[in-house]
Amino acid sequence: MRDCDSYLPILDELADRYLGILGFQGPRPNFKIVDNLGSDWLGRTTFSTRNTETTIIEIQASVLDDLPTLERIVAHEIVHHWEFLARMDPRDFLLFKIGIKPPSHGPSFQEGAAMINAVKGDGFVTVGSDRTYVVRKSTRPFYLLITSSRYYVSRRDSERSPFGYAWAARIGPRNREKIDRVLSEGGKLVRIADDRFTHGPRIERWGKIAVPEAGSETAIELARLFETESGIVPP
Ligand SMILES: [Zn+2]
Repeated sequence: MRDCDSYLPILDELADRYLGILGFQGPRPNFKIVDNLGSDWLGRTTFSTRNTETTIIEIQASVLDDLPTLERIVAHEIVHHWEFLARMDPRDFLLFKIGIKPPSHGPSFQEGAAMINAVKGDGFVTVGSDRTYVVRKSTRPFYLLITSSRYYVSRRDSERSPFGYAWAARIGPRNREKIDRVLSEGGKLVRIADDRFTHGPRIERWGKIAVPEAGSETAIELARLFETESGIVPP
């Protein structure tokens, strides 16, 4: 992947394209590229009454490499940008100021989406088009805690993998105790970058352990990691 900042001109160009389709002459958003592990959104638009000039659109770095996907996400967020800057009337604005936000994909979103879809085709901008698909696999390493104890699998549930897991980007006071306990029960802590596991639960003191279905791809990979990776001692 290229340096994130080198994508900003592409994002501005996409913004201009979709602002043009919406017939909006106002300012562009400020783009920010972020890289959050395990996030369920790929794009997000934020408007604040403290700075009403423009919005901030955050884009996950994981979508930068796939231009068609990036374009759909930017188009979706530009509709939100247009809603905030072009469609809010003084009453909406007052309500927003006291914390009452308009519905996030209500009639004005649908109206903007329809204007873009009239040019780009049906289904180009949808309610979920900023979060439904992830393209590039994240390469950021994280900690995966693997439990091998039957304790985490209910006795009746023999259809489950003998291994369970939870993950964390960092180890700190909030999850350290859980890690120590699982390791003392014969579990293993490994450092990997396979992002299928970051859709599961995070390691937390009272947090859940995910136990995949026996024979599933995740169960097989978990068993492979447990048997082949050398466990690490938490830092
Ligand atoms: Zn949205």
